Amino acid sequence: MNQRTLSNLRKAVAIGGVAFLTAALAADVFARVGGGQSYGGGGGHGGGGGGAGALIYLLIRFLLWLTIEHPVIGIPVDIIVIGLVIYWFTRPSKKAIAATSSSILGVSGAAAAPARQQGFQREFNQLRRFDPNFSEIIFTDFCYALYGRAHEARGQGPKALDLLSPYLSEQVRASLLQLNSSNLKAVQGVIVGAMQVADVRGLASPTVCISIEFEANYTEFTPREGDPRGEMSYYVRERWELERKRDVLSPTPEQATALHCPRCGAPLQKDTAGACAFCGTKIDSGEFQWYVRELTTLSREAKGPLLTSDVPEVGTDYPTVAQPNFPAVRAAFEQNHPEFSWADFQARARLIFNELQEAWSSLNWERARPHETDNIFQMHRFWIEAYRAQGLRNALDQCQITAMQPVKIKVDSFYDSITLRIFAQGYDYTVDNNGRVVGGSNKDVRRWSEYWTFIRSTKAKPGPARADLNCPNCGAPLKVNASGICEFCGGKITSGEFDWVLSKIEQDESYAG
Ligand SMILES: [Zn+2]
Ligand SMILES: [Zn+2]
Repeated sequence: MNQRTLSNLRKAVAIGGVAFLTAALAADVFARVGGGQSYGGGGGHGGGGGGAGALIYLLIRFLLWLTIEHPVIGIPVDIIVIGLVIYWFTRPSKKAIAATSSSILGVSGAAAAPARQQGFQREFNQLRRFDPNFSEIIFTDFCYALYGRAHEARGQGPKALDLLSPYLSEQVRASLLQLNSSNLKAVQGVIVGAMQVADVRGLASPTVCISIEFEANYTEFTPREGDPRGEMSYYVRERWELERKRDVLSPTPEQATALHCPRCGAPLQKDTAGACAFCGTKIDSGEFQWYVRELTTLSREAKGPLLTSDVPEVGTDYPTVAQPNFPAVRAAFEQNHPEFSWADFQARARLIFNELQEAWSSLNWERARPHETDNIFQMHRFWIEAYRAQGLRNALDQCQITAMQPVKIKVDSFYDSITLRIFAQGYDYTVDNNGRVVGGSNKDVRRWSEYWTFIRSTKAKPGPARADLNCPNCGAPLKVNASGICEFCGGKITSGEFDWVLSKIEQDESYAG
């Protein structure tokens, strides 16, 4: 994968669920290339500074002397020392594992990635045993909504933030307010570029904890002398620790927006005692819904991500990762959906793929709006705007699908989802405002593969998938507003209520099923 160029459409990955790995990879690359925080890298060895160096030098000299002068003692000692050194450098390092779980996998640890990701899949399946309504798609929606709401609220001041106390602990609200400069007037344009689950814990206990890492961009307005708008954009990475009572039934998609009282579902509003004005409950834990216990800012910089470095494609020739027992799962799905046709579905997938490539290459992301869920659309917009801000454009010319392979079908309480491995090729390069190629190549064809996940509401009317540019609800020519609502019939197309929409893209080198 070319990390910085087409990657972004492709990298922009995941969300909708657990995988996020490639985005994490990207985040890690930014962190390294952007020259900030060497987050988790480097592994946890090394004995520190010059003193240790001198000691090692003396030790080696001593061993040399011993080996030459007294080989009977020297050689066994050498063997022991070499063994210790090998052990020291190959033993699992806690820090290295931490870095691996959240990143880098695509580059170096392809073999380690699947195990890690499968772990979360397994744990989410386990959570579903206690909470049959748990849906990764809705959980992700919720996290996105809360993230944006939390940052906007801190821009409106402590009181606005306090309204979110049923979702954000006191410590989290304090951490958010700490970001505010004294004259901050607003935080706007919060866009999540990537979100990944970094850890899931506590499934054997009454409280489940999920760690999440966000990569995001927002604009702060801090008027100052000579600069009445005081507009400043930040690229940030944050880690959020969420918790929730394990044995709670997740709310429906409409209620999972962080806009309501987690207990009674009324609009967020407080009485004088700080409890919900409607049900009188004061919430300061994950008793009813996900609750953010801790927030850590990992990095916050004015500089945008690096978009011009070339990273070779990895994973294109990796064997396809299919769901265990896929043929049986597929047969069961076909039986339960007699109206479903793979030909129609793949035609729709192809249409969406082509529309997205066009929208991406022309930086005209609105064109992609009808085909993506809100989250992935937002995420892609993050990248488009990062390109725009730097006067760059990533072109994908003569892009075409060479093969499509169904690999996974999942049905939860609210959504059906189907994952296809898509093989494609095309010219992938980044140009600056003067048309100069600054990344990738417009001469060498690049081949790649990705796992694309499409979702459709389980409530959708049975019928063939649509492969034209008409509203799947009313049939009028596709024209949707910014929230994905058809201008003719008022139906929200991008929630998968009527037809399949794209919810996730994962890279082949990190996809684990
Ligand atoms: Zn309430
Ligand atoms: Zn319509």
